[in-house]
Amino acid sequence: MEPDLRRIESLIHQLLVELGEDPAREGLAKTPERVAKAFAFLTDGYRADLGTVINQAVFTQDTSSMVIVKDIELYSLCEHHMLPFFGRCHIAYIPDGKVFGVSKLARIVDMFSRRLQLQERLTEQISQVVMEEIGAKGVGVMIEARHLCMMMRGVEKQNSTMVTSAVLGVFRDNLATREEFLTLVGRR
Ligand SMILES: [Zn+2]
Repeated sequence: MEPDLRRIESLIHQLLVELGEDPAREGLAKTPERVAKAFAFLTDGYRADLGTVINQAVFTQDTSSMVIVKDIELYSLCEHHMLPFFGRCHIAYIPDGKVFGVSKLARIVDMFSRRLQLQERLTEQISQVVMEEIGAKGVGVMIEARHLCMMMRGVEKQNSTMVTSAVLGVFRDNLATREEFLTLVGRR
């Protein structure tokens, strides 16, 4: 369901009043409209269709070597504060006859990032989709991200990075595979 932009605008208008602002002043006059559009974009992952995102870009390839895509940019919103967290996602998998077109992994990351998220859940959702869509033998996903809710408020740990990982299939069962993954993403 598409978000009701007019309704979001009136909520943001009300929020500005509650924060002690004057929504009529020049700089804020169009803010509710801009915020509504921004939130619609930042949450469009709820409305994305996985089939459309992947768009048949799954190819047959007879390889069982590890495929790894590093440093996929990631921007999301933490569900506890609705503040951004951002960083990099690394995805590795061992195919079983099928591989993804390169840009599709980035699209999958966007689809799950553009929601209210927990970094742990985001990491797991990406790993599960990669595993299921190409029937991989195993998948490893690692996300390194900084959370503005930590950096700007609360504990104000400005340089801390949160690292989460999820491993499935042979990445979970085979120590050597997991070690290879960690080495390739530079965590060993
Ligand atoms: Zn938070």
